[in-house]
Amino acid sequence: MNKFLKRLPLPLKLLLLILLPLALIIYLTIKIYNEKSDKAELLHGYLNRINQSAIVSDLITNLQAERRASYAFALKRDSSYKPEIDSYRRATDEAIRNLENLKVTTLINFKGYTFLDSLQSARRKIDNGWVADLVMHYYTTSIFRLNTLHLVSAGNNKYLNPVFDALTVEKILNEMVSYLGIIRANFYNALYTKKNNIAMLYGLMGTYDVFKSYERELLIKASPEMAARYTEIRNKTEVKPTLDYLEHTFKKFSFDTIYAAEDWWKMSERATFRLRDYKNELLNSARLKMDAVYASEKQSRNELIILLIIALVIVFSWMIYTSRIISTMLNDLGRAAQKIAAGHTNVPIPEYSKDVLGNLSASIRNIDEKNITLAKTADAIGKGNFNVPVEPRSEKDMLGNAILQMRNNLREFTMEIEKTHENFRLVADAAPVMIWMSGTNKLCNFFNKGWLNFTGRSLADELGDGWIEDIHPDDLDRCVQTYSSSFDQRCDFYMEYRMRRKDGEYRWIGDSGIPRYSPDGAFDGYIGACTEIHEMKLYEQRKDDFIIMASHELNTPVTSIKGHVQLLQSIYEGDDKKISDSKVIVRPSLQSISKQVSKLTWLISELLDLSKIETGKFELYKTKFDPAALVEEAIQEVKHLAPGHTFTMRNGFTGVLYADKERIAQVLLNLFTNAIKYSPGANHIEISLQGNHEHISVSIKDEGIGIDKKDQQKIFERFYRVEGKSEQTYPGFGIGLFIASEIIRRHQGTLGVESEKGKGAVFTFTLPLIKNDGNKLLTDTESVLADN
Ligand code: ADP
Repeated sequence: MNKFLKRLPLPLKLLLLILLPLALIIYLTIKIYNEKSDKAELLHGYLNRINQSAIVSDLITNLQAERRASYAFALKRDSSYKPEIDSYRRATDEAIRNLENLKVTTLINFKGYTFLDSLQSARRKIDNGWVADLVMHYYTTSIFRLNTLHLVSAGNNKYLNPVFDALTVEKILNEMVSYLGIIRANFYNALYTKKNNIAMLYGLMGTYDVFKSYERELLIKASPEMAARYTEIRNKTEVKPTLDYLEHTFKKFSFDTIYAAEDWWKMSERATFRLRDYKNELLNSARLKMDAVYASEKQSRNELIILLIIALVIVFSWMIYTSRIISTMLNDLGRAAQKIAAGHTNVPIPEYSKDVLGNLSASIRNIDEKNITLAKTADAIGKGNFNVPVEPRSEKDMLGNAILQMRNNLREFTMEIEKTHENFRLVADAAPVMIWMSGTNKLCNFFNKGWLNFTGRSLADELGDGWIEDIHPDDLDRCVQTYSSSFDQRCDFYMEYRMRRKDGEYRWIGDSGIPRYSPDGAFDGYIGACTEIHEMKLYEQRKDDFIIMASHELNTPVTSIKGHVQLLQSIYEGDDKKISDSKVIVRPSLQSISKQVSKLTWLISELLDLSKIETGKFELYKTKFDPAALVEEAIQEVKHLAPGHTFTMRNGFTGVLYADKERIAQVLLNLFTNAIKYSPGANHIEISLQGNHEHISVSIKDEGIGIDKKDQQKIFERFYRVEGKSEQTYPGFGIGLFIASEIIRRHQGTLGVESEKGKGAVFTFTLPLIKNDGNKLLTDTESVLADN
């Protein structure tokens, strides 16, 4: 049964909940209605009995009247009684029909046992001269028997209580009237015939005693009002003289002549009427009361049924309404639970009173709130807040405990990752290169300290695509293109671009980028390292420039020589006129060829020296010599090349220098030719030779274009030529000073310049005075070893 009920859908359960009590109520209602109906029927039965009594009483009254008239007729044989007899007979017949019409079970065939079935034959006998005593006997027997059909008291139950007294008194009165009727008739007979008086009185004494006993019973059983009413009738109507006469006669035991027969009959008849009237009065009042009780019972039954129907409707409606409310509440809770089961949060859950549903609603709300708390906690953990408190609801709260465990594991895991990141950052920051990293969206998410120190910008400035601002506008498109296409193909790249340093200068950077992958093989972005290649880049540039310049410089004398050689060829191949002019033409041509050849020789020897320096084959051949004489020789040689210039030599040293004389001469010639070359508007050069016991120093001062401070170091580098309009007009490879500085350096000397732009330059080299070790030939390597 339990299983069956549990399986039933909720609406059916609620319907059963309604229908079962309703069926019970309807069943009880029908039962109560039936009982009420039975009760009303009972009352109706009583009412019928009262009516029956009234009709029986009526019949008895009529029979008594018919008896008296018939008895008088039989006694007197006086046909004048006939109309009276007929009228009583009709009344009697009417009363019998009324009784028959009642059609109650208690009266079925009542005529058979009340002698009324022989009424017609008795009447015929009376009409034919039946003896008066037989007439009296017949009617009296029948009347007595009919008296037994008078209402049998149903007992003093609560329904009959209001009429019980009246019915009891009425019955007693009925008995009294019957007995009085017998006595009256006998007294009439005695007074009329004046015979058998004593014998008759004896015969009637018993009847009179019964009559009086009824009267006593009446006074005992009647209510005070009824007793008073009876006493009033008894004392103030014809009842009094009638009963007084009876009492008087039975006392004396003989009839006196107070009343003639007819007078007695009339008086006693009126007395009988009085009693009968009172009897009918009681019966009527009982009938009215019973009617009222019956009507009220019927009304109460009807009211009951109406009330029950109303109650049923109200109960049914209320139960349907309540069921609907409960069903709605359960449905609401069900829907809320479903939503929560589907992962919703903040589900609106109605608040109910503190019963089962209220507790259910509170529990669901609690689950929702806890879910939200756990979700917020998980969200906070997901966002990296590992200090968020996690409080499992109980030891068995799997979800709460799992989130707690997850938080702790993630905290440890994250700390490890952070440690790894920190280590990476430390390594990256300590690395001598600039490191950057980007994510899968191409945007940069990391720059090391090296990068930030270089650009002088903050990490926030550089992140994303902020780094673009660092790139030289001319390189930007190419740079972005290389980065983007490599990124799309996930391939390594190397690119060079200019990046702005914190001092605002753009420096060449070599940037290598490679794609990054996570342990599970997923692409994570790029990582790249940059190194500054500015110097290398400039060197390359200079080298390129040098090759162009060298080609040009070498090409010019070769073309010139070629022209002069062709000219000389044409002279010697028979052109008489030209031969005659040969002296004029040949000399300058040969001079020009010689000049160009020496220039070529110089250039080629410079290139050879550079090659030797770069391949490590540059050697020194040291000898002892007089440096002052060497300077003088160099001046003379240069003078020859630049006849317009004046040279002033101040010599403050006397001594011998141990060095590679040829190379020192090369240095002097280089410095002299530069002084001449870069002094277009001046023609005076001062040379000073100073020395002490440790070293000598030689200065060459010109009044030329001078050198900017920023270039003063660089001019000693390979291929470096000062950029500028004036400087560019002078031919040169940019290697003279480099070779010179190398020569001096290899002698453990120094070469430097002091100058100001536009105010001439002073080049000074120093050389240590090393003691003679026997004119030994030192290789470059040996020289260096000797120094150390
Ligand atoms: P170059 O063959 O170009 O002269 P150098 O190495 O001899 O090569 O000189 C390097 C550069 O130094 C020159 O290009 C020039 O710009 C600068 N320079 C050298 N000497 C002088 C000077 N006396 N006055 C001004 N500039 C000079």
